[in-house]
Amino acid sequence: MSNIAKNVAEIKARIAEAACRAGRSPEEITVVAVTKTRTVAEIREAVAAGLTHLGENRVQELCTKVASLPDLGVTWHLVGSLQTNKLRAALGHADLIHSLDRWSLAEQWARRVQAGDPPVPALVQVNVAGEDTKHGLAPNDVLPFLQRVVGLGSLQIKGLMTIAPLADDPEAVRPVFRRLRRLAAEAAEQNLPGVSMEILSMGMTGDYETAIAEGATHVRIGTAIFGQRSY
Ligand SMILES: *Cc1c(COP(=O)(O)O)cnc(C)c1O
Repeated sequence: MSNIAKNVAEIKARIAEAACRAGRSPEEITVVAVTKTRTVAEIREAVAAGLTHLGENRVQELCTKVASLPDLGVTWHLVGSLQTNKLRAALGHADLIHSLDRWSLAEQWARRVQAGDPPVPALVQVNVAGEDTKHGLAPNDVLPFLQRVVGLGSLQIKGLMTIAPLADDPEAVRPVFRRLRRLAAEAAEQNLPGVSMEILSMGMTGDYETAIAEGATHVRIGTAIFGQRSY
């Protein structure tokens, strides 16, 4: 087995254990293999090992990868922040965008969909820990934002996403994941048209088991699959 195949097998086993400990089914959890900086050959190995969801954090790289791997039949995620001038390219290539993080982007998104661009569903990115270096809405702004987005009419919101602060001990970020889950539950109670809370995108290489314990449905994993990134 290649390293990538071994890594994928280990991650799947750890996810199954984490799900089981939380009284959840492993089938509820989707691994988004974060392929930024990785070669097409590495990506093919990950897909051969059974991964069917791939994520990129830059629109340009997403477009290149999608074009280089037309035969894969995978689901492509945009997990990184989205500049408004790249929105059109993102809508043309991604199947799910995890980074709706501001009103101006929502407005442009609705306008593009009304003009005929693909109605790609979105997750609202939340900066739960309030870090200056991270994108995302403040937790208290999420419900008002969703109510406003409903007025735009053309957006499909499928859940929430967060990036937890870097921490040596994944237990330290458990409250971040818990807060996102509770926010999603509050949002779901509003029964807003076009808004579902079926997806909670949280957890990366260092903290995915904790995220699963707190209800993650999508974990975004790069390093644990492919090894350290070199830029
Ligand atoms: C790079 C990246 C990941 C994956 O990080 P790893 O620590 O390598 O697993 C997850 N989410 C986002 C938004 C990223 O940019």
